[in-house]
Amino acid sequence: MHDASDDLAARWARIRRRVDDACRAAGRAPAEVAILPVSKTFGPPMIRAAMALGLRRFGENKVQEIREKSVALADGGIDWVMIGHLQTNKARDVARLVSEVQSLDRLELAQALHRQLRHAGRAIDVLVQVKTSGEPSKYGLPPAQLPAFLDALREYDSLRVRGLMTLAVHSAEADEVRACFRLLRALRDQAVAQGHDLPRLSMGMSDDFPLAIAEGATEVRIGSAIFGARAR
Ligand SMILES: *Cc1c(COP(=O)(O)O)cnc(C)c1O
Repeated sequence: MHDASDDLAARWARIRRRVDDACRAAGRAPAEVAILPVSKTFGPPMIRAAMALGLRRFGENKVQEIREKSVALADGGIDWVMIGHLQTNKARDVARLVSEVQSLDRLELAQALHRQLRHAGRAIDVLVQVKTSGEPSKYGLPPAQLPAFLDALREYDSLRVRGLMTLAVHSAEADEVRACFRLLRALRDQAVAQGHDLPRLSMGMSDDFPLAIAEGATEVRIGSAIFGARAR
């Protein structure tokens, strides 16, 4: 017998093995690197199949999708992680539905989230998304603004700042990709030296995670290597 959930189980086992191999190649312990499954564009049946493998934390890049899936999967005890660009006017839904935001990239958004989280009586973990590549299409805080941004975030006690997130440049040149990850780690180390507690580095996706692990990722965001190719 063969069905889609067999494929999912095989791909999940394979990516965990590849992440573990990348850790060992980098002289790191596999337990140091978590995998965030990115379920964007996949519907509740696929997510239920992933839940059957023990997965409960899923990355999504659109608030609308989180809204729909959290209704369909309300019984699942899922932690939704927002990894996509976030409009300030979506802060209310985010505050209500999401357990973590990895795409915090501007003060206006921090203010809006904080206001809604206080209303909801909640606090969430956040990562600051930093723009480590020169690509105009990518979002994120410019690196030079990070120190002041982290200082400003101290005011918003509903946002527990846990680390940094980035997307590397889309390039066939491994050195260019790696430089993005190295920059994020250097920015983290500088911020830690300035007294910030930032244990987490979310970097690396299906096509570039070994480089991210070599540069210190504590979490890789994996979509297509787990769920298959996306239709859009
Ligand atoms: C889609 C997405 C991923 C996962 O991408 P894959 O190449 O499918 O692994 C990771 N991070 C972000 C921010 C994404 O939008």
